[in-house]
Amino acid sequence: MSLSVLIIGAGISGISAAEFLRREGVSVTLVDRVNPGDPKQTSYGNAGLLASSAIVPISSPGIWKKLPFYLFGKNSPLSINWLYLPKLLPWLIPFLKNTRKEKFLSVIDALQSLTYDSIEQHLALSKGTKASKYIKLGTWTLLYKDKNEFLSDSYENNLRKKYGFDFTELKQNELIEKDPFLGSYYNFGAEFKNHGWLTSPSLYIKELANHFKNNGGKILNKKVKEINKNTVITEENEILEADKIVICAGAWSGKLLKSMKLKTNLETERGYHLFLKDVNYMPQNPYAVSDLKFAITPMKNGLRCAGTTELGGLNAKPSFSRVNILREGIKKVYPKLEWKDEEVWMGHRPTTPDCMPILGKSETSNDIFFAFGGQHIGLTIGPKMGRIITNLILDKKQNIPLAQFRNDRFYK
Ligand SMILES: Cc1cc2nc3c(=O)[nH]c(=O)nc-3n(C[C@H](O)[C@H](O)[C@H](O)COP(=O)(O)OP(=O)(O)OC[C@H]3O[C@@H](n4cnc5c(N)ncnc54)[C@H](O)[C@@H]3O)c2cc1C
Repeated sequence: MSLSVLIIGAGISGISAAEFLRREGVSVTLVDRVNPGDPKQTSYGNAGLLASSAIVPISSPGIWKKLPFYLFGKNSPLSINWLYLPKLLPWLIPFLKNTRKEKFLSVIDALQSLTYDSIEQHLALSKGTKASKYIKLGTWTLLYKDKNEFLSDSYENNLRKKYGFDFTELKQNELIEKDPFLGSYYNFGAEFKNHGWLTSPSLYIKELANHFKNNGGKILNKKVKEINKNTVITEENEILEADKIVICAGAWSGKLLKSMKLKTNLETERGYHLFLKDVNYMPQNPYAVSDLKFAITPMKNGLRCAGTTELGGLNAKPSFSRVNILREGIKKVYPKLEWKDEEVWMGHRPTTPDCMPILGKSETSNDIFFAFGGQHIGLTIGPKMGRIITNLILDKKQNIPLAQFRNDRFYK
């Protein structure tokens, strides 16, 4: 009998691990409470960027200078639900400690080891499936109000350069030459080449899931309540067993670890999207807006503006007023943009206090594996995380040091 693996969570992390394992002849069951590609998945509504150069975590040493604006400024890309603060502190305090330069630099190093080949990983994952048609290759450009604002980001941009993510500086006339629809509010850019994006993250996941199912993989629509050794118990008290279990439940993974009596430290960075349909203009490549921290991505059937961070936990209702930051932001980028219809959405980025994922074998069992905590780049690194889990389960050689991603780093 072939090895059996049960994977909880069919977002980008789970579907990647499932498909790579299936291709190795493993008998894989993917369990999720929603269908792959569903709006309740964070993998549904993100900006779709395969952002290999996004190695600078939000826990940057420079965050202290910007904190007053972030916390109290109008249109701040970061907000805290103050009622949630007591629950947030066990995550927030170590997060702030991790802005130390030395730690910050080691995190960049670790993240780069996961992002550097992300396009190749996505191409390999989607090869031979209908998902591949949703991958686009091209540039993405960071937009700044002016050269001074660009220079204030020099530390971060030089780090990107050091890791091989070089960029071209674009003055206003050069920006307009490439994209005549741009307004004049953002008049400086840093253009990164060799990037990619998805024109529909939802259909990408759906097609990967269809391919997985059509080629022998099993998908169960169930909510998992508890994990006990090699056994998974669903909300209906059904018992599922497997040789190995992988937790890929995104921002909800902490609940599953709790059911195994394991501690972790995971928060949700709630983010929003505004999807503009029937637009009168579509850019050729994506942008990211530096001050408002959101991305603009040309997608199938519309233009997606996605970003901002809200620290408010898993259970609070969405604060859709935050979408106004995106609505006002896109008008600054494209003053003449018009659209006929729109969709708004909130999703949960899974983020640890050091902004690195939890990836690898559980500290208490050789049969349980973790792949969650992809924060702002979870879509980018999902296939790589799936590949690493596959190698670990099949005892294949690993070329990345995994100790830095262990779960018990938070409470040893
Ligand atoms: C606004 C925004 C923009 C973003 N933009 C980008 C971007 O451009 N590029 C990028 O790389 N990343 C981006 N991200 C981050 C990225 O979307 C996430 O890191 C990534 O989608 C996480 O994937 P996942 O598979 O770990 O989690 P999810 O996609 O959330 O999947 C987790 C799955 O687990 C299931 N689950 C949870 N608990 C249970 C349970 N008990 N039983 C059964 N099933 C369960 C859920 O139903 C869900 O389907 C963005 C995020 C946001 C919010």
